[in-house]
Amino acid sequence: MIDTFCARFGSADGMRVFRAPGRVNLIGEHTDYNLGFVLPVALNLATYVATAPAADGRLRIYSEDRREMREWSSSEISGLARARHWTDYPIGVAQQLIAAGFAIEPANLLIRSTVPEGSGLSSSAALEVSSALAFLNRRRLPPLDLARLCQRAEVHFVGMPCGIMDQYISIFGREHTAVEIDCRSLEHRDVELPAGITFLAVNTMVKHALAGSAYRERVAECAAAVEGIKPRFPLVKSLRDVTPEQFESVADLLPGVIARRARHVVTETARVGQFVEASGGGDLKRMGALMVESHRSLQQDYEVSCAELDFLVDRALGIEGILGARMTGGGFGGCTVTMLRPDAVPRFRQEIATAYEGKFGVTPAIYPCEPSAGAGEVLPA
Ligand code: ADP
Ligand code: MG
Repeated sequence: MIDTFCARFGSADGMRVFRAPGRVNLIGEHTDYNLGFVLPVALNLATYVATAPAADGRLRIYSEDRREMREWSSSEISGLARARHWTDYPIGVAQQLIAAGFAIEPANLLIRSTVPEGSGLSSSAALEVSSALAFLNRRRLPPLDLARLCQRAEVHFVGMPCGIMDQYISIFGREHTAVEIDCRSLEHRDVELPAGITFLAVNTMVKHALAGSAYRERVAECAAAVEGIKPRFPLVKSLRDVTPEQFESVADLLPGVIARRARHVVTETARVGQFVEASGGGDLKRMGALMVESHRSLQQDYEVSCAELDFLVDRALGIEGILGARMTGGGFGGCTVTMLRPDAVPRFRQEIATAYEGKFGVTPAIYPCEPSAGAGEVLPA
């Protein structure tokens, strides 16, 4: 990055590099914006942002992955409007930092990422968090404030009404553990995973066009479900507050589609606790079964899966040594996450790739999900 930075900006004097990881969510999908529980793992895949002061009053941002640069006078950042461009992520973060009282200093930024874009492993939050750290450039902001600030950038500037999970895990990720996040209290606890299992993410290599609009639609449907449940249970403020038993007692009062959406969220929130419990007891079979239940719920009730994701899950379950599989991330493409015995990894890689190529004519990328540290400065160490 030092060489690339020099070649692009002339000098790397005073250059620092900040890193923020992507994530894979083991279970608890589409529960974060309903203020429920999630269980993600920060990955080894990460976005790196190199930054050094610019003497000419400009802010320049170059993405190596996009091979594209944009620049502004640092004084115009606060007034920029959404451009429907990848720079909306760092600019949205910059505006939130300004609103929080942090001036955006003139600088050159170089972005390099190993998180695949638009694949459900959260390259967007990795970009937001790494950019925020680069803009802050060692000025301090409490980690939870940082997570919320980056989420606000995505909701209000990019225009995606996302929950807190992706930004939170990118900051609070830890080596060797998954992290159970309570998306209402914003507290978390580290969840040590049992020995004798490993996780792989498999990329469908597709992202269907309706991913964004369907996401917004689901957020609205969940809000409609809350309104429909309130007359019977007035204390309910989000689907997080509804137990599976309460839900079944009111399900008939809701329009069919809304009831199915809510059933997913309510059962999925419960599954996170069940998965953590099974993990604590070393019950690998139960963990795997819960992942498959989660997938079926996303496929049939929440309707955010697609043929490619379903194929990867169904095919994985037919391979020896596979304990469970499900789609991960928002859906309509992106990745599955598969839980398997370590000795099954080579066989799984080979069989799943061959099957997917045979069916869809594309080679799926496969990523090991090694729980990794959350965001921070990596250079100078
Ligand atoms: P996900 O977060 O699952 O990867 P999103 O659709 O939420 O998918 O975010 C992907 C978007 O984030 C990309 O379309 C692009 O605008 C932006 N992005 C992510 N990583 C980079 C990068 N390295 N360079 C430029 N833009 C990026
Ligand atoms: Mg994203």
